Amino acid sequence: MRGVVFRGNSVAEVIDYPDIAPGPEQVLIKLRSSGLCGSDFGRYRGEGPNEHSGELRRPGHEPCGEIVGLGTGVVGRKIGDRVIQHHYEGCRECDYCLTGWQQLCQVAEKKEYYGGSMHGGHGDYMVAHQSTCVPLPDDLDFEVGAYLACGASTAFQALKKLDISGRDTLAVFGQGPVGLAATMFGTEMGARIIAVDISPERLEMAANSGAWATIDASNGDVPEQIRELTHGTGADATLEAAGLAATRVVAVESTRIFGRSCLVGEGGEVTYQPTPHIIHRHLTLLGSWTFSTFGLAEAARFAAQRKVPLASVITSRSTIEEAPLAYENFSSGAPGKFVINWD
Ligand SMILES: [Zn+2]
Ligand SMILES: [Zn+2]
Repeated sequence: MRGVVFRGNSVAEVIDYPDIAPGPEQVLIKLRSSGLCGSDFGRYRGEGPNEHSGELRRPGHEPCGEIVGLGTGVVGRKIGDRVIQHHYEGCRECDYCLTGWQQLCQVAEKKEYYGGSMHGGHGDYMVAHQSTCVPLPDDLDFEVGAYLACGASTAFQALKKLDISGRDTLAVFGQGPVGLAATMFGTEMGARIIAVDISPERLEMAANSGAWATIDASNGDVPEQIRELTHGTGADATLEAAGLAATRVVAVESTRIFGRSCLVGEGGEVTYQPTPHIIHRHLTLLGSWTFSTFGLAEAARFAAQRKVPLASVITSRSTIEEAPLAYENFSSGAPGKFVINWD
């Protein structure tokens, strides 16, 4: 079977891997779509190959496909099931694992990551534990399922945490795949979305995704521009999906008194001044990291029932043979969502 390998220093290749078969309680998934996620840039651009205990690992943590094989003892999954794969493993016994939050498992030696420590979705097939498979609603395409497998559902979970409703004006900082999903889901939840970015292409995509207003942050003083749009008060809620120190501060400064602000973009650092930024403004500052298996299923049902136009921001569809070029383009900052598709 074919699979992608990251060689290090921004080199990806497609190589032959040995055929695979599901073990006990595992299923064999034929990939139909596999998303590219910015959180893999560390692995892609890093110095060495993506490997674990000296063995190469196929990347890709946004897998979506069909079950084509069952290991022994699989219950509740059958051949032909269309599934989104939740890319984490844990001990399966702690409170977090039992509630679908395997990424929060407290048993360090049992924590695994499909597409990192384990083989992921950038191959013709993958094996996965049955508990990591979430049904893909019939009316969603596989590529939308791949988008939901990490980026889009991360946005959905953060909006739930922010308790977004039709009473809110929500400013979303960063209109990459996560931010664009927040714009679409937030719009469907009834909020007015102010989309912030420095890329004209991304802002145009945000406008087409339902944003009520867009702000080009390169034009300066974003908090002031947001106050102008909100009768001087600031946004009721803000979501930071850029992962940048300066943007994190600007997001807080753009939030109204008694508002809430959620950090989603990962990495780096930030320095707040507690008194003017947080305390004297009664700010609620939140963090949100991906979602549970149940959260993934809920996001997929919401996307299907509300016809959230997630597919509209997919800008790159590749075959697996073209995956190295797709990574090159994605890594250079091309806008929109990138997926690898199979017939
Ligand atoms: Zn991701
Ligand atoms: Zn656990």
